[in-house]
Amino acid sequence: MKGMKRIKVYHGLSLILAAGIFLTSCGSTAGGSASDGSSADREVINQVSLLQGLTFGDYNGSVPVSRLKELGDIGIGTFDALNGELIMLEGTVYRAASDGSVEKVADDETIPFSNVTFFDADEVISLSSIDSVNTLKSELDKKVHEIGDNRFYMIRADGTFKSMQVRSELPQTEPYKPLATVLETDQTFFNYENIKGTVVGLYCPDYMSSLNAAGWHFHFISDDRKAGGHVLDLASDELKVSIDRTDNFAMALPDNEMFNNFDLTIDQSDDIKKVETGED
Ligand SMILES: [Zn+2]
Repeated sequence: MKGMKRIKVYHGLSLILAAGIFLTSCGSTAGGSASDGSSADREVINQVSLLQGLTFGDYNGSVPVSRLKELGDIGIGTFDALNGELIMLEGTVYRAASDGSVEKVADDETIPFSNVTFFDADEVISLSSIDSVNTLKSELDKKVHEIGDNRFYMIRADGTFKSMQVRSELPQTEPYKPLATVLETDQTFFNYENIKGTVVGLYCPDYMSSLNAAGWHFHFISDDRKAGGHVLDLASDELKVSIDRTDNFAMALPDNEMFNNFDLTIDQSDDIKKVETGED
């Protein structure tokens, strides 16, 4: 597919160790005791687990929502047992559930996978005539190319969406199946027209492709907080896009048997493309 980046999984563990060398604040941030944004490092993308763990079927929550709020005020992810799509915006954690409803999530619910940071807009741009999610990606790619392809970015895109297609998924029961298998039967889709809201987006550089999906990953929540999910497609005449360049990365790995025993050398690139875009 045009604009898609090929995802390749290398030896997961060796890459994590290599990454650790570069992570300036990994230990202090992921394990720190900051209780609000004022004392936390605002320039860190905090990741819970690997996307590759999630795609293998590790839906075991490892980090509580309360902890996630110490690590950021904006982000995306999912919940224990794959119970819906996570959208964090302005410090509130929402679930876009499989039935299309949206709710605030309790602090003791746990997260198997997510990326959050504290949002500081470094640049604000407006984009017009966005006719698809791929157009949005390529416009944002141009901007990222100016600032630097090899960095992390969190963005929020605010406006009215002429169309918005999102998905969520049904909560799972153990033994957990791989994500691509789950989505074949347990995915739910919702289409909205002329809906006001915010797209929260994460950009991971290419070298992150063993730990997450390289490129863009978008979740949506409506202004009235009644609709949301993982974005499959969208269109908008005018969007205000705020971009937060973030130069640090920290990761909290889960400690459970499933994760400990994954063979992360297996190439999951096709599965990741399928789960991210809904396309084969
Ligand atoms: Zn998603």
